[in-house]
Amino acid sequence: MIIAIDGPAAAGKSTSAKLLAERLNFLYLDTGAMYRCIALSVIEHKIDIYDESSQKDFISSFNLELKTVDGAPDFLVNGNSVTKKIRTTAISKKVSEISAIPAIREYMVSLQRSFAKNNNCVVEGRDIGTVVFPEAEIKFFIIASVEVRAKRRKLELQNIGETISLKELRRDIKARDKHDSERSHSPLKKAINAIQIDTTEMNIDEQVNYMIKNVNLKKIGKNNK
Ligand code: C5P
Repeated sequence: MIIAIDGPAAAGKSTSAKLLAERLNFLYLDTGAMYRCIALSVIEHKIDIYDESSQKDFISSFNLELKTVDGAPDFLVNGNSVTKKIRTTAISKKVSEISAIPAIREYMVSLQRSFAKNNNCVVEGRDIGTVVFPEAEIKFFIIASVEVRAKRRKLELQNIGETISLKELRRDIKARDKHDSERSHSPLKKAINAIQIDTTEMNIDEQVNYMIKNVNLKKIGKNNK
């Protein structure tokens, strides 16, 4: 079974997807983290990602693995764990631009499908229910007000030692949403059959319980067919 979770930046997707996967004993696949891994490599190796031949060389030499360490996902780029380096503001600012490149998306989508193959999986991103797994059994689309999203992101960044004003976070989040929704290749969009959840006034337990309730309803419906 595939559970697709999409929605704009910092709407509460990761936290709920992780907990949902834990509760259901499913694999958790954070595709935003995968795009962040690519962005980190492009920045670290100063790749001219718009030059066709450097783009090709970069993609063919880029190897991404997903491991589970102490119950948490760990991403390895060419053998090195990068999980702790991909959440910074510098990566957040660059990632939308890089993830809009069609060749990067095509490569990532094939990798995402191979990671989820033969697994029960909670997959989180922007185009999961529309492009990566349009046949997913359950799709959620998570939204929240910009104000609440900026506050949540501020707390996350504090945990990795970054201080940034709410004003700047609001601006970054809006810019990223705009870029992700307006790109021509697989933009951020709610799938027609996705269940929309507005988490502005919900705590994390309420979110996950609501999702589990919908998963169970789906299972009952399937068994009655
Ligand atoms: O989910 P997160 O905020 O970590 O995603 C980082 C960025 O990766 C998004 O802003 C978007 O540009 C890109 N992304 C994407 N498609 C996905 C997941 C993320 O384009 N499926």
